[in-house]
Formats: sequence, structure tokens, C-alpha cells
Amino acid sequence: MPQIRQLEAHVADLIAAGEVVERPASVVKELVENAIDAGCSAVAVEIRRGGMGLIRVTDNGCGIAPGELPTAFLRHATSKLRTPEDLGRIGTLGFRGEALAAISAVSRVEILTRQRGAERGASLRLEGGVPESVEEAGAPEGTTISVRDLFFNTPARLKFMRKDSAETAAVAGLMQHLALSHPDVSFKLVKDGAETLHTPGDGKLASAVYAALGRDFAKGLVPVEGRGGEAAVSGFVTAPLQGRGSRSMQVFFVNGRFIKSQLLTAALEEGYRNQIMKGKFPGCVLSVTLPVSAVDVNVHPAKTAVKFAREREVFDAVYHTVLDSLERQGGPAAPPERGAGETVNPRGDFFRSMDAKTYRSQGASPAPAPEKPSRPGWNTEWRAPAKLSDSGGGTPFRTSGERPAAPVRGSFGAPPSVVSPPPRRETPAVPPPAAAPEPPAAPRRAPVPAIPADRPDGQQTLEPEREAPWRVAGEVLRTYIVCESADGCVYLIDKHAAHERVNFDRLKAAEVPPMRQALLQPVAAELSREDGALLLENLPLLEQLGFGCEDFGGGAVLVREVPADIGAEDVSSTLEELAESLRTGRSPEERREKALHTMACKAAIKGGWTSDPAELRALVEKVQSGEVKYCPHGRPVAVKLTKYDLEKMFKRA
Ligand code: ADP
Ligand code: MG
Repeated sequence: MPQIRQLEAHVADLIAAGEVVERPASVVKELVENAIDAGCSAVAVEIRRGGMGLIRVTDNGCGIAPGELPTAFLRHATSKLRTPEDLGRIGTLGFRGEALAAISAVSRVEILTRQRGAERGASLRLEGGVPESVEEAGAPEGTTISVRDLFFNTPARLKFMRKDSAETAAVAGLMQHLALSHPDVSFKLVKDGAETLHTPGDGKLASAVYAALGRDFAKGLVPVEGRGGEAAVSGFVTAPLQGRGSRSMQVFFVNGRFIKSQLLTAALEEGYRNQIMKGKFPGCVLSVTLPVSAVDVNVHPAKTAVKFAREREVFDAVYHTVLDSLERQGGPAAPPERGAGETVNPRGDFFRSMDAKTYRSQGASPAPAPEKPSRPGWNTEWRAPAKLSDSGGGTPFRTSGERPAAPVRGSFGAPPSVVSPPPRRETPAVPPPAAAPEPPAAPRRAPVPAIPADRPDGQQTLEPEREAPWRVAGEVLRTYIVCESADGCVYLIDKHAAHERVNFDRLKAAEVPPMRQALLQPVAAELSREDGALLLENLPLLEQLGFGCEDFGGGAVLVREVPADIGAEDVSSTLEELAESLRTGRSPEERREKALHTMACKAAIKGGWTSDPAELRALVEKVQSGEVKYCPHGRPVAVKLTKYDLEKMFKRA
């Protein structure tokens, strides 16, 4: 074994610095927190090259006495804490006395400061933590710290830095949080010469939300105010119908500190239980205020987590405040589950996603996904003998032969009791087919075009019907397909999971680029700045997935084209989820894979939607052929019950 030795001070400092200063955004965080602790009313942050070139933070706070300047850069040097008891009642953002030491250890720093009321200011430069001498200098009241060449002396860390744009996005996201946590301070962010954030600092949270998160987000918010025990809760939450695609718009503060907390997330989401659509998340800007003795902020070097002395009390305070506010807002929103027979697959494009090539070969012109009436040409062609309907019982086993969709012939006039027509904006006078007394009614939409895909001549001919080794017995809970196989087994198939898998395999194989549809009205996707920047940085991937996007300024993304199987109403949430995939994927392959998951899920029919029997049959075919076994997340797609299993349940065996 090599000899045990105590590390030299500068090596130990570099290791410690690594914990505090992970990336440019960590520097910005520490410096802005110092400015807030110094009682400033305005703070401006300027960054160049994502902060790797320059980070400059200017405040109008209390300033530092010239004689104390070198001390401020020593490790464990702080004006905010003296005794062990102080640790139990921290009211400032900083307290560890490590930030200036850590930042200066891994960069070139220059500080210029003048105390309030003092005549002269002072400056100091440091390189790799080594200070030059303090000099007298003219300066405005307050403090300016410039950090250049971050990680110049720690090549290992430098190597792990992401692209400048990713760092810029991280700084922008952080500044949003800081600005929201202190509405009484005016925050400004200038990136490479362009101002991208400027909050008024008028003390109103609503103004800060508007300035930092944008008008669209601010518009739909519900104000929240309440208390429980020692905890006071205030801020805004999104209306239940404005659910988001990810948790990226959940912003929590405890005593003015932005933190991540599973407890607070859970309390918030509990308040929305049964009010928000499955797979959607509430957004919020929620501030929890507690006595300083009731919260331990010293649990994380970057101070992004806290520990509550009485967790239950905090949970209840947040939960009840959110719930009460939502109820006061006009009662719980309509549950996302629709009444029976009310909602058909709103996109009506199931078979397009089952087989992209075919759709293409049909020369169908792209159209906005929602409210699309069925294509008349296809409808008529497929108004075939209506002799069976799988939604009823007792139908014989039938098959499509090669293709899953073929046996649908005759059953497209979906039984009126099961489905209702999609909205028909262009032909309001026409009675909906569901009202037609006799089948064969005009089908609601044209799911059939998948069939001719496999026919080389492109002809749509009916194949003779053959016995299939299974039949669809029906659907239950508008989620599970019940299917019986000829060998006496019963299958329950999760239609969303199965369709998601089919989509995923199709996307992954990428035989043909995804079909796109131009949106009649481009959508300005309402995203957090960080998400927006992340997506813009990955435009080529979005392009491959079928999105036509461009920078709309200020982090917003303008979407002109979307994949054909994504509804226009889902654009923002899909992009939000894609940003989440990009953020959490650790390698380009993993990011791509996660993005494909998102696309597959978004394009899939959902549990709760009423599906066309033809759609269900197509999925059963995929499952029965063994092509589809697990959803992309690894969950099973089908559950099999043998005759023996059933007999055992009924004590027959
Ligand atoms: P901490 O914030 O944990 O005390 P730092 O290393 O961040 O430790 O800062 C050390 C000290 O320098 C602070 O305690 C504070 O007294 C002083 N200081 C740092 N930044 C500023 C600033 N912008 N304005 C006034 N004082 C500052
Ligand atoms: Mg500090």
C-alpha cells in the first residue's frame, strides 16, 4: 500500500471546489445568492460562452470592506454564521463560507466593491485561488465579481463541460428560479450581449412569474395562499386542465431558497388527485415559509435540498392549501375520463401510425390532426358487407390473412352504442353517422389504408376470409382488449401499451422518415427557458422525429410541422417531454431512445379513449403473432389466462 499522507492544501481545495462548482450555473447561483444576502434590490448577470468565457455578477448590496476582501476568499470564511447554534437557525442563502474560495480556486476572479456609505471602493484579483494585493478603486456602491476561464486549472472537469448552449440554458433556468424566489429584487440576465430576462423587482410574485415564465404560463394560474401549523404557503399553481407534460414547471421555495423536494411534489400532486389527466403534471411556483428552526438547510453542498423538522405538517399545509384553492377556483375540474361513447380516438389516425408507408403511398395530403373528418374517398371504398362486429359476442374466429386490418371489413360502421362521430366542423348540417339507423353507415373515419401497404400493386382487394386462431371478445374499461384464442385461452391486452410498442418499433426501425403535417397555425410552444434552449440545441434530432421547429426568441420554440400522428393540441406537452428525455439521457443513444419512447407514447391510442374495433383487432394481431410482447418501458402488453386458470378460479378444477 502506498503511504498515507494528508493532501496538500491546494489539492484539497480543488476537490472541495468541485463539490460546490460543478458548472457555470453553480457559479452564478452562489454569486447571486451572495448578492441577495447582501440585501441588494437589483442584480445583473452577464455571461459569455455559456459562462465558460465570462460570468459577471453586479449587485447594489452592502458591499465588502477593503480589509475583509482577502478573507472573503478563504475557505470557511463567512459573515453569516458564528456559533454551532447559528447552524440551527439559518436565515441567509449562504452560510458555508465556501463559495468564493471554491470559485476562485478554479478560475480567474476579479472583484470590485464599495460598502454603502463608504467613500472609496477596493478591488482584488485572484488566479487559481492565489490573491494579488487589494487595491483602492473607484466603484459604485455594491459589488461586481467577474469570473473568467472557469476550470482553466482542472482539465478533468473542463472535459466534462457540455456545449455552451446547454450551459447557457442552465444559467437561464437558474436565473428564473432565483428571480421567482425574490420578487422584491430586480433580476437581469444578459447572454452574449443580449438581455433575456429582466424582472421588475416590484415585490409581486405575479410580476416575476410573468417576466420569468412568460405570459402564457402566467395566464392560467390559480393563486394559492394558506397555512398549516408553522408553515405558510403562497404562490400560484396551474389550473387542472393546464397540466404539463413533465415536472419541469414545478418550482418550490423554502424560506426563499429554490429547492427540489419529493415531499413538496407529492403534496402538490396529491392536491390534484382525480382532477388532472393521467400522465400530466401540475406546474407551480410555490413558496413555503417556516421558522428557521423548523428546517435544516445544511444537507447538501449545493444547498438544493432541505430537511423539514415536521414533514407531515409541511405536507399537509401544501396539500390543503392547493386543494382549497383549486376548489375555490370553481370546484374540481371535469374529470378527464369521458362519458361512455363520447370520445373516440381524437386523432382518428391510428392506422397511419400502424403503417406509415401506406399512408404515404395513398398520397394523402397532410392535415391538422385534430377535428379531422374522415376521408371520403376511403370511406366509400370500404363500405363492405357489414356482417360482423367484434364488439358484440359470439362472432366466429376470423382473420385478415396477412394483415391485421383486413378482418375489419364490414365492421367499420362502428356500432352506435360504442362510438360517436368525431367533430365535423366542415359539415355541421350532416347528421353524425352514429345517428344513422342502419349499418352500413359511413365510417367515422378511414382506418383502412393500412391494408394495401403490403400489396405490391397497391390494389385494395378483399381477400377471402379465413379462420383466425383468435377473436376479439370486446373491450373493458376502455383500456383492455379481451381476446379469446382458439386453443381456449383468454388474453387481456393493454391497448395503449401495445400500440406504444408498435409505434416504438416502427420509429426505431426508421425505415421511412416520419410523416409530417404542416400546422395550419404554427404553435409557439410554451416551455421553460431551459427546455426551449435544450430543444433548440437538438434541432436535428427534432427534425428526424418529424418536427419542423425554429427559434422564436427568448427560449420559445415555434413549431410549424409536427409528426402526422401527434395532435396539434399535444405539441407543447410532447416537446416538454422530449426536453425531459434530452435532459435525463446520459448518452446520445440514450437520449435518442428516450425521445423515441416519448414519441411512441404520444402517438399511441390512450386508455380511456373509445377505440374502433378495427384498431383493437389490429393490435390483437400484433400481440397474437408474437410481434409485440412488452411496452417500451418493459411492462407486459398482454396477460394470458388459460382455461385451467379460469377453472381454478371458479373451483371447477
Ligand atoms: P457564504 O455566502 O457562505 O458566507 P461565500 O464564500 O459565498 O460564503 O462569501 C463569503 C463572504 O463574503 C460572505 O459571508 C459575505 O460576507 C461576503 N460576500 C460575498 N459576496 C458578497 C456580496 N456580493 N456582497 C457583500 N458581501 C459579500
Ligand atoms: Mg455565499
